[in-house]
Parts: sequence; C-alpha cells; structure tokens
Amino acid sequence: MATRNYVERDGKIFCDRRNCPGSEGLRCQRTNVPICSQCAVRTPVGYISKDAAKQQADRYFNIGVPDYVIAAGIAFFATLISGFFISLFLGGIWLILFFVGAPIGAAIGDITWRTIGHRRGRYTSRVVGGAMIFATFILFPIGGIGTLIFGGIATVAAVSRFEVAIRR
Ligand SMILES: [Zn+2]
Repeated sequence: MATRNYVERDGKIFCDRRNCPGSEGLRCQRTNVPICSQCAVRTPVGYISKDAAKQQADRYFNIGVPDYVIAAGIAFFATLISGFFISLFLGGIWLILFFVGAPIGAAIGDITWRTIGHRRGRYTSRVVGGAMIFATFILFPIGGIGTLIFGGIATVAAVSRFEVAIRR
C-alpha cells in the first residue's frame, strides 16, 4: 500500500499529490484515508482512493506476459484445427456453421482460459479474439465465406465467454 503524507490546513486534509485541492471530509471506503477530488475514484460501493483502486486492479489482473502468448497460441491453433475440418466438410453449409460456431468458440475460450490457469488480464479477450481472427483468415482460402461465418461466430462466442468468465 502506498503510504502518503497528509497535512491538515484550514480544516482540509491535503495529500502529497501535486496541486492537491484537499479533502473536505471524504474518506476512502477501503482504507479510510482522506481523499480529495483528485484522488477519488467512484465505485459502486462509494468513493475509494486512487491508491486503493490501483491496488485492487493489480490484485484483480494477475496475468503475466507469457500467459498472453500461451492464450494467443492456444486460441490460434484451436481455431485453426477446428476451422480447418469445419471448412473442409461443412464450408458450404452455412446454416450448420451458425449452430456449430458458437459452442466451438465457447469451448475454445474455456480451454484457453483453463490453460492459462484462469488468470485474468486486461487484454486477454482482445488477444484471444485477434488470434482467432488471424486463424480464420489463414483458413479463408479453404472454406471461403463459410469459414468467415464460422470464424466470426466462434470468435464472438470465445471472447464473450471470456468476458463472462473474467467477471466471476
Ligand atoms: Zn489529494
């Protein structure tokens, strides 16, 4: 926890941020330190200090750079392999692509998240989505529009699965 110095002047409490406007009695819900309008971060449970908010975010997002690389790799290859067979055998049957795209995409999202130990990251859904779109474009010559339909639906399903999972 960052420790700040506070000074009281004219009934206001000032922190050591530059140009601190001073706290008028507002305190952080978490740490109970006085917070000024510069330090206040609004949350559903009330105002907390920037330091407390940063600490909370650091604890919440526990992913490392290798996890992003692994997530991208898993999502890419899972899409490439499933998309390859789907494009090969079902590429022309667009209606089926709509039905298989979502569950396969959701499964890819789950497998990816499990592989990185359920760690949460700010950019995981974007990394996974990017890898899947990349794989889809590689497969495009095989299945044409059908591949794009499958890849698009699978990507949306994986990414949204991810965002739901991350919120837990
Ligand atoms: Zn301040």
